[in-house]
Amino acid sequence: MRRIAVLTSGGDAPGMNACIRSVVRYAIYCGMSVYGVDRGFNGLVNDNLQLMERRSVSDIIQRGGTILKTARCMEFLTEEGQKEAARVLREHDIQGVVVIGGDGSFRGARDLAQNCGVPVIGVPGTIDNDLNYTDYTIGFDTAVNTVLSAINNLRDTMTSHDRVSIIEVMGRNCGDIAMYAGLAGGCEYMLVPEVEPDYQALAHKLNQSNRKGKTSDIILVAEGVGTADMVKEKLEGLTDVSFRTTVLGHIQRGGMPTMQDRVLASRLGVKAVDLLKKGIVNRAVGIRQNEVIDVDLTDALTAEKNFDYSLYNVANVLSL
Ligand code: ATP
Repeated sequence: MRRIAVLTSGGDAPGMNACIRSVVRYAIYCGMSVYGVDRGFNGLVNDNLQLMERRSVSDIIQRGGTILKTARCMEFLTEEGQKEAARVLREHDIQGVVVIGGDGSFRGARDLAQNCGVPVIGVPGTIDNDLNYTDYTIGFDTAVNTVLSAINNLRDTMTSHDRVSIIEVMGRNCGDIAMYAGLAGGCEYMLVPEVEPDYQALAHKLNQSNRKGKTSDIILVAEGVGTADMVKEKLEGLTDVSFRTTVLGHIQRGGMPTMQDRVLASRLGVKAVDLLKKGIVNRAVGIRQNEVIDVDLTDALTAEKNFDYSLYNVANVLSL
């Protein structure tokens, strides 16, 4: 392959820039030309691509967000939209596309490959860590660290006022942000979509801890369980504890990527280009037990949930 394109799609995630940098620089190192696509699949449909050079990706490894911009693209959900994208790629003589994004973006990449014969590689870029074939996605580590920093701030004020904090975090249907931030932040309770919440038991624990003189706790709620306000409502009828809710929202998406995310992004970008160079296509790259792996793109989308229940139990035992 001589000419490839790279795009970022779906929700932005810290480390996407490090991955773009890796794809661009490694492809050039391998003697390929690389085109950057503007605003995800929109840039393909609307023929908005530009040739990237080594210097195009200078000074971005430390920046959150994505210099290529990202967007949802409704047109790309239709076969006509996908065919138009494939036509644009043919016109530029581009032979492969690296798609950095979440599961929706992977579905788009799969359709581009299956319906239009365009060779693609998926790179997992989402803070949610909800792509099950890989241990980690680009952006997850940074998002967890952002949540940790918020937990530290909230603990100060909650302890001073003897209140219980209910913090809602992102993750869609995946509880990893809540579980890892909860464990690392010493939170007392983590509500995740993978485990049915028992509000009676939770209220009982809160009452007990209150009786023992502990007047401040932190409850993390993954958005897949419900809202922080919903949890507050459920608990208020069962305990006299005073709650305050916080929704961290898009703060979790931004910020300087951590070392983990920069290194992961760099490794996965190189792997994506390596596969295209060898003509191994329609794969998703990822990481398992610190080894870079690649799997069939369709299998990546249907992989069984890999929530770490034993780690969740550890988090619960340590918070007792
Ligand atoms: P995040 O996990 O951060 O939300 P994502 O990649 O899952 O990221 P989506 O909004 O679900 O984000 O998908 C991004 C884009 O991928 C969509 O706007 C659309 O263009 C394309 N896409 C999503 N689902 C499909 C599908 N089933 N077929 C074709 N294209 C799709």
